Amino acid sequence: MSGSYRDTGIVLRTYKLGEADRIVVIMTAGRGKVRAVAKGVRKTTSRYGGRLEPLSHVALQMHEGRNLDVVSQAETIDHFRPLRDDLDRLTRGVSLLEVVDQVAQEREANPRLYQMLLGALRTLSADPSPLLVPAFYWKVLALDGVSPELDTCVSCGGDEPVVAFDLVEGGVLCRACRRGVSISPDAIALLRRVLGGELAAALREPVTPATHEVSVLATRSMESHLERRLRTLAAFDH
Ligand SMILES: [Zn+2]
Repeated sequence: MSGSYRDTGIVLRTYKLGEADRIVVIMTAGRGKVRAVAKGVRKTTSRYGGRLEPLSHVALQMHEGRNLDVVSQAETIDHFRPLRDDLDRLTRGVSLLEVVDQVAQEREANPRLYQMLLGALRTLSADPSPLLVPAFYWKVLALDGVSPELDTCVSCGGDEPVVAFDLVEGGVLCRACRRGVSISPDAIALLRRVLGGELAAALREPVTPATHEVSVLATRSMESHLERRLRTLAAFDH
């Protein structure tokens, strides 16, 4: 049937619409970020209202609309109960949703980002690693084209030991060229593992000063990346 489609997705956020309806923002497997109306979900008699909560992984039947699609059916695939029962995990899960909401484009398929979010929520549910959210941020930055240089000084390319990190410069810097924030050799080594194909092992690291550094740096880098993105987008409006 034309105008109707099936997809799976993860609910990123919801907000009220009118008396009984809700707008649901969903990261879908096949269509990127989709904003859809869920009609009547705020009524107690709603059959699928509870399935369309943030964090829920759902199978959807949708109708295409001009601005907003309409949810006609929603079935729960995974409710991620362990995240909802633990405030720390819930907070971390929501921070994953927020970043995906900022980075994903509407109606532009990004199956890799969808799979990364799903994988991160499953990991957070099963075995929450202190590095899970920061590692997710670094992976999203890399997916968005921001892969920091971690081996040699981005400014001079010399052999001197690197001691600082600056995302705007594009990575690590030596003592002579230093800008941005200080970074320890352990944190650089950990970051190399996160971004260099040893993510699973890096996620098993206990909390150390290095995991803390990588975590703080991930948040700063993500914030600066999103701010630049938002500014870039704003520039096209004027
Ligand atoms: Zn240098």
